[in-house]
Order: sequence, then structure tokens, then C-alpha cells
Amino acid sequence: MTQEEMWKAVSENDASYDGIFFYAVKSTGIYCRPSCKSKNPKRENVSFFNTAEQAIAAGFSPCKRCRSDLSEYQPIKEIAEKVKKLLDESFRGDDEINKELQQLGLSHRRMVQIFKDEYGITVYEYIKKLRLKEAKRLLSETNDKIIDIAYAIGFEGLSSFYRFFKINTGLSPAAYRSEYGNKYNS
Ligand SMILES: [Zn+2]
Repeated sequence: MTQEEMWKAVSENDASYDGIFFYAVKSTGIYCRPSCKSKNPKRENVSFFNTAEQAIAAGFSPCKRCRSDLSEYQPIKEIAEKVKKLLDESFRGDDEINKELQQLGLSHRRMVQIFKDEYGITVYEYIKKLRLKEAKRLLSETNDKIIDIAYAIGFEGLSSFYRFFKINTGLSPAAYRSEYGNKYNS
């Protein structure tokens, strides 16, 4: 790959080059993945390395933003997808989410940032969406008690669930159920 190609990838924050090379910036002493969203450096300050080890050996430090020190090849997109998958599976409980996220080895802030960059929605908003969808499903397809539904999707009690549901749908859970519920809920 030519330096020109690498510079183009850096200028365009092209994540498909993540893990293929790194760039370092003389003026800051930091090295980054090509996809790093930090401000584009001046071309004359930039040098390129095939591996993170080479950049470190040349005296550069990893970037906190793109975590250029993560040894495993993990493009940002892949991390975002992992987080999303994890939320899809564990949105019902905060404890479970936190435990799983810790296993990804990302700081909370970092994870939130990656997710927002990729999907344009915060993790918090995304969890809310999943919970709302599941609440609607349980209300319309099951005959579960509303309090049980509240607990099942991660709420601590009925009143917080009511508030959440009303704000997001304009209906109380009971009204939603009588509007959209199936035959179980006559
Ligand atoms: Zn960076």
C-alpha cells in the first residue's frame, strides 16, 4: 500500500483499513487507527506503521479515542455491532448489561461513544426502544400482569413503567392492552 493510499484512508476515517496500518502524529505523539474520528492531522506530521508495536517502538502513545492499543484487531464497527447484539440480548436487566459490557474490555464512556457514532442513537435510547417494543409485545400477546411485565423488561416498579410507557405511546399499559391485545385479554 502506498503512503498516498494510507493518507487517503486516514483523511476519510476509513474503518476498512483498521488493523491494516496505523498512523502516528508527530505534533501530538499519538498513534491512531485509520478510522479515528479525531481531527485530521497535517500531512507533514504524519508517519505510517504496519503495527501498533512499531509505532510504540518509535516513541508514540496509543490514542484514547480510537484505542489504537487494543491488541486484537477490532474495527470500530465490529465493536459497535457486538455492543448492539449484547443489548439486543440483555436489555431486560441493567446488571446483566453492565456485566457483559465489562467483558468486552471497554470503558463505559468509550462504548457509549462508539455506539453513538455507529448508530446515531445513544445506548440508553436504544435500550429504551427495546424495552418499549418488548412491553408492547407482552401487553398485546400475553395475559401477564402489568407489574410482571414491568419487572420482566427491567423496571423497578409499576409507576416508573407506567410513566415510561405513557410518555412513549400516549397510552397507559392497560389502555394499550385493551386497544391492541389479542383474545386472551378480553
Ligand atoms: Zn485515535
